[in-house]
Amino acid sequence: MTTTGDHQPTAGPAARRGAPPEVDRAAAARAAVAARRARATVKSAVADGRRTPLAVAQAAWRTPADATNHAERSLRVRDLLTSIPGIGPARADAVMGELRIARSKRLGGVGARQRSALADWLAARSGARRRQSRLVVLAGPTAVGKGTVSAYIRDHHPEVMLSVSATTRAPRPGEVDGVHYYFVSDAEFDRMIRERELLEWATVHNSYRYGTPRPPIDRALDQGKQVMLEIDLQGARQVRTAMPDALLVFLLPPSWDELVRRLIGRGTEDAPEQQRRLETAKVELAAQDEFDVKVVNSDVATAAGEVVDLFTAP
Ligand code: 5GP
Repeated sequence: MTTTGDHQPTAGPAARRGAPPEVDRAAAARAAVAARRARATVKSAVADGRRTPLAVAQAAWRTPADATNHAERSLRVRDLLTSIPGIGPARADAVMGELRIARSKRLGGVGARQRSALADWLAARSGARRRQSRLVVLAGPTAVGKGTVSAYIRDHHPEVMLSVSATTRAPRPGEVDGVHYYFVSDAEFDRMIRERELLEWATVHNSYRYGTPRPPIDRALDQGKQVMLEIDLQGARQVRTAMPDALLVFLLPPSWDELVRRLIGRGTEDAPEQQRRLETAKVELAAQDEFDVKVVNSDVATAAGEVVDLFTAP
């Protein structure tokens, strides 16, 4: 039996013209709103470096063609490109012209040849960015002055992005959350470990945990930036494994006596703790040959200058 719209009590004039019934249109409108939101989420993930544009494109191309509301598939190529930090509308248009992709194309609608051209372009761009960038890890024995050298770099070399670690210890007077550390609870630190948000982490001086949040590091490296971590030896070893391209720098005291003098002189630890830290320092000093570069901290400005020069050294 065939029925026409005229015989369906719920069908309005639109249905008679062959348009979807009201209820379908409402569902379609809701789906479109959800898709728009999902696309906005994808764009912001690209903008802040949580996803690479290539991963977004590949997700679109893995998805079946009939998934019309799929966030990645339905994302316009131009919107993907302009979400990339440093690419504005004019540059996006130029790139699309170069790759012969029409301005209105959505990722899912890009043909095979253009897909491969776009994938190559995105991969080459991220490779070039990564090549410009450099990750320097500053480690060294306790009391050698790592914190002072890194504070000097933070104050005098804004071109270097200093990673802000998460720690379970409480702030000291003058320390600001988000600037010196992210001061987090034990439960939050556990969550960061569980969700693989840390590039490395360690329990330092048998007391509190410290770790390097990974997303800001990846983001900065993708943007071609110079990134520095000031962490302990256990952390430096983990970075070596996780990111073999990182340059590991060991900060040395001018002499053992000077290290003892600095540790005792700063007066932040009681005598037994000083003794424990000196024992640790001996073990730490023995690890110096694992490092790519050694810098002697006789004078803070000079040592900081030597570390900063490593970012541009061949
Ligand atoms: P403080 O509590 O004095 O600021 O730092 C204590 C020690 O923790 C220092 O040796 C410092 O290098 C180390 N540290 C700071 N942040 C991190 C981090 O993210 N990871 C690791 N492994 N060590 C860190």
